[in-house]
Amino acid sequence: MNPFTYARAEQAEDALKLAEAQGARFLGGGTNLVDLMRETIERPQSLVDVTGLSAAIEETSAGGLRIGAAARNSAVAEHRLVRTLYPVLSRALLAGASGQIRNMATLGGNIMQRTRCAYFYDDDGSRCNKRTPGQGCDAAEGFNRYHAILGASPSCVATHASDMCVALAVLDAVIHLRSPRGERTVPFVDFHRLPGETPQVETVLEPGELILTVELPANPIAKRSTYRKVRDRSSYAFALVSVAAALELDGGKVKDVRLALGGVAHKPWRALRAEEALRGREATPENFRAAAGAELIDAKPLRYNAFKIELAARTITAVLQELAEEAQ
Ligand code: SF4
Repeated sequence: MNPFTYARAEQAEDALKLAEAQGARFLGGGTNLVDLMRETIERPQSLVDVTGLSAAIEETSAGGLRIGAAARNSAVAEHRLVRTLYPVLSRALLAGASGQIRNMATLGGNIMQRTRCAYFYDDDGSRCNKRTPGQGCDAAEGFNRYHAILGASPSCVATHASDMCVALAVLDAVIHLRSPRGERTVPFVDFHRLPGETPQVETVLEPGELILTVELPANPIAKRSTYRKVRDRSSYAFALVSVAAALELDGGKVKDVRLALGGVAHKPWRALRAEEALRGREATPENFRAAAGAELIDAKPLRYNAFKIELAARTITAVLQELAEEAQ
């Protein structure tokens, strides 16, 4: 591990000032960043601990929910309003990591976690464009069972690792950011980037910019939402495919639907094509399967992950069918 300085901030203004130092990084629970520092993949010269900033989970005047970036994953998952108004978020969080890690990890840190591509972590012999731009991507022709089938590029085929972020994508969440230049909001679905030719740039966050809060809009459909994660073992494993969904029916037809996928792309994948294909249609397994096909039509499998296309289609169909049966 390289030498670094450490400072703890209790206010956003202090954190931004401390982060003006060269090579500074904000530190949440450290459950990913510290691992990367130990492996010398990340080499910040200073860490600004932001776990003392707002961890509040509070209702907004518009009837939604605002969650401070320092809120621990376990606190968000267990919160009464999250469980009742946004069950998909609670279930996604409980599907992620272990109880100990959820107690440490923060909302902001979870959003900023980096890919779990094994070649990215292997600084001792593997080529990785995300770690060293221009070096090449050993995953493209290597062991790519866990890698992307949607939105990848020749530069990078990694997937985003977070379960929570798939739920935030389906809930139309908005991220509030602050920097020395002021505050701005970004729709959650626009926060993470596809790899293109610059896979090392993973989000639209600007240098020195801090995640303050995440806001969940009020929407009755969110109450009828769920999350299903398919993985190689039943706990403490990253998703092969995951599905976050919300469904509202009217007389057996789909009145409204939200769908997002995890484990398939460089960012949480909002399935807008499938949503469009379903609105106004009968809520039948055949239509759910057809909508999944519409979403996956551009999927490009790698050598070891073609199974993800069928797995995603089946999981989408099963999750929507489960929600439809609950709604009837
Ligand atoms: Fe690196 Fe992305 Fe290739 Fe993995 S898939 S080796 S993270 S460039």
